[in-house]
Amino acid sequence: MVKPRCNLPDLVNGTLIKRGVKLVRNPFNRSYFTYVGSKWEKFNLTWALRSGSPPEANLPISFALKTWADSSVFRFSKASLFEAADVKISFYSGIHYDNIPFEEDDLAHSFYPPRGELHFNADVTWVVDFRGSHCDTADIETIAFHELGV
Ligand SMILES: [Zn+2]
Repeated sequence: MVKPRCNLPDLVNGTLIKRGVKLVRNPFNRSYFTYVGSKWEKFNLTWALRSGSPPEANLPISFALKTWADSSVFRFSKASLFEAADVKISFYSGIHYDNIPFEEDDLAHSFYPPRGELHFNADVTWVVDFRGSHCDTADIETIAFHELGV
């Protein structure tokens, strides 16, 4: 995938700096994380999809989180209440409350801990299995994996 998925770059050759954000390789578990001076203070995190979001997004998001759990110290479980979740996942169109409006080509953006929010652009044609998708669609699991990087 050549097209950027948000304002953060994908990792290239171990370390990459863009807009002051440095992607760092963890020497202990060989995972990567972004160093921004904020981190989760716990390893067991809860997540939830905002009410009104496409319900079919649950499964690919859980797959993305499982991939991260398998290669990090973090564990993820579904929160029963959206507002109580550590990671709050929503779908928004255009201008929404965070002053970072989605434009046509934006897929998603996220906020570092402790805010822990992931916003998908609701105007994008999302698919849950990229293998059968067209070039004008985006795969939820792939984008969730990128945005939820721990
Ligand atoms: Zn947003």
